[in-house]
Order: sequence, then structure tokens, then C-alpha cells
Amino acid sequence: MKKKFIALLLLLCIFCSVMLTGCSKQSFSASSFAYFDTVTKVIGHETSQNKFAKVVDDVYALLGEYHKLYDIYNEYDGINNLATINKLVDGEHPVVKVDRRIIDMLLEAKRMYELTDGKMNVALGSVLSIWHDYRTKGIDEPWNAELPPMEQLQAAAKHTDINNIIIDEKECTVWLADPEMKLDVGAFAKGYAVEMVAQYLESIGKTGYVVNVGGNIRTAGAKPSGDKWLTGIENPTGEAGYIEYVELEREAIVTSGSYQRYYIVDGKRYHHIIDPETLMPAERGYLSVSIICNSSAMGDGLSTALFCMSMEDGMALINSIDGVEAMWVTTDEVKHYSSGFSSYITEN
Ligand code: ADP
Ligand code: MG
Repeated sequence: MKKKFIALLLLLCIFCSVMLTGCSKQSFSASSFAYFDTVTKVIGHETSQNKFAKVVDDVYALLGEYHKLYDIYNEYDGINNLATINKLVDGEHPVVKVDRRIIDMLLEAKRMYELTDGKMNVALGSVLSIWHDYRTKGIDEPWNAELPPMEQLQAAAKHTDINNIIIDEKECTVWLADPEMKLDVGAFAKGYAVEMVAQYLESIGKTGYVVNVGGNIRTAGAKPSGDKWLTGIENPTGEAGYIEYVELEREAIVTSGSYQRYYIVDGKRYHHIIDPETLMPAERGYLSVSIICNSSAMGDGLSTALFCMSMEDGMALINSIDGVEAMWVTTDEVKHYSSGFSSYITEN
């Protein structure tokens, strides 16, 4: 009897201390502009600012590593990255020994290519770099803004075969077999990095966190109170504010839109998501496409791909994958949803 009583008392003590720790956790947030050329925001629950700051240090250190590894333009001392893979040495791409995190990301990107029937293609760099240059010039000198000549785009499109990314998993090397091809991971790497960081947090038991890198949002568990995270989806019409609110617990939400990056030629907007079929900015009648699923990597890949697909094809793709939902905002500012999206929607 006495033993039972002591055991019960012990259990009660443990329960109370767990409750107290849970309750005394507060919400903290931090932001930075150091990664992936965009704003990073981390929100988390800890018992002290110090504890939170330590976690954020780890998150930033990881994001810094991913940022360097997945940079397609700049090389960094002491590491081989995507820029090293993209460069030419004596007219050929070198075989480059890389960090495992490059191999894993590229393998995942190849799977996304298969899944999206080639709509999200990280081997589209030769075409995307032409658009990038014309867009940059058009933004810097709007009076000289021009469209890239179609012949130039078509010539570049001959060098976008994803099978020419040769990966040797054992040796941990990557080689681009076509000297005129280039990698561009802008549609995928940021979401992939966010997913890796969120998984790291979960692996050390840090739930009740959200990582948001430039709108690639991944929640890692509900708040200590048990409440979910209220997340706004930006209004893609250019008006300030949100067009929809969703509640998330352990999901990613990623949006691709024509309103984010564009330039203007003869009064018409040309945005940054290129349809591999037309080689032009995708015109499927959307302002934005948002994806909710359990991986920010998949969310990033799918949001770009669905932006390049008819709604019928996009809907069929979404319905073929478990646990993935989508919202399309069409140019007439109407919202369209996949069948399970409404279960995430909430009034603010
Ligand atoms: P954001 O860059 O705003 O997060 P996305 O995830 O949709 O938006 O990615 C757009 C970027 O991806 C472009 O800037 C370009 O670098 C690249 N990109 C554009 N179209 C494609 C495509 N069809 N397949 C793969 N990458 C693309
Ligand atoms: Mg994307």
C-alpha cells in the first residue's frame, strides 16, 4: 500500500514538473537576411532567451552551410559547391567531389523531375540563366528592357537533359556530362534546406518551432500549449495582407507566384517561373500556387511545377500523392482548392 502511494506521488511529481516546464516555455523569434538572399525567420518555444539563442545559432550555422553548398553563382574557400560543378575547366565541366548534402539534394530533385513530368527541372540552368540576365538588365535599366530571342532560348533548351547530371554516390562526385548545361536549383534547394533544418530540430527534440526562409515555411510540432500555428498565405494580387489563413502542426507550406520576381517589357510583366515547354514565363492563368505537405522540399518543387501545369494536370498530380494539398489563385483572383485543403483553413 505504502509502495503504491509513493509510486503515485512520484508520478504526480513528474507530471507536475513536466506541466510546469511546458507552461513556463515562452515564444521567441529571430530573423536574418544572410541565407538564400531572403529573410529567414525562426520562431520557437523555450524556457529562456538563452536556450532559444543557442538553437537559433545551430539553425543559422546549418542554413549557412546549405546556402554555400547550393550557391550556383559563387564559390567559397575550402568547399566544392554547385558553382564548382557548373563551371568549365578547359571547355568541360570537371568531375567534382562534393559534400553528401549536394548528392542527396540532387537525387531528390531528380525524383521531383520524374514526379512532375519534367516541369521542375534543376537542369534548366542554360535557359534560366538567359532569363536571369535579361530580367536583371530589365530591372536595372527598365527603358532598355527586352525579351530574350526565342532562337537563343531554343538553342539553350537543347542542353537541359537531367540525365546528364552524372552522380556517383559511392565516390560522392557530380559531373555534368554536357558542357553547355548548367544547374539552377532556385526552385528546390531553399525548400530542401528548410526541410533538413526542421528535421534536425526534430531530431534533437525541438518541437514547437517554425522555420521560414523566404516563405518556405515548415512547422515542427504544435506549440507547447497544444495550439497549432496560424499561417497566412500572401495575397498575390500585390495588395498587402493575406488571402488565406491555415493552421499547421507539422507541415510545410510553400507558395510560388508570378508577383514575386518579374520585369516589365512593353507594359507586360514577365515573371521568373519558366515553363520548360514554352521556354517562356508560365502562363496557366495563376497568380500563385500554394502547397501544403509534410516536406518543405517537396512543397517547393511542387509549387514551382504546378505553376507550369494546367489545373487539371496539377489536381491529378496532387490527388496521386498522399498528404499533399494545393491552392491555386487564378488571375481573376479566385481561389481554387484540392479536396483536402479546406481542413487546414481557419478564420483569423
Ligand atoms: P522562389 O524563388 O520565389 O522561391 P520558386 O520556388 O517557384 O520561387 O523558384 C523559382 C526559381 O526556380 C527561379 O528563379 C529559377 O531560378 C528556377 N526555375 C524557374 N522555372 C523553373 C522550372 N520550370 N524548373 C526548375 N527551376 C525553375
Ligand atoms: Mg519552388
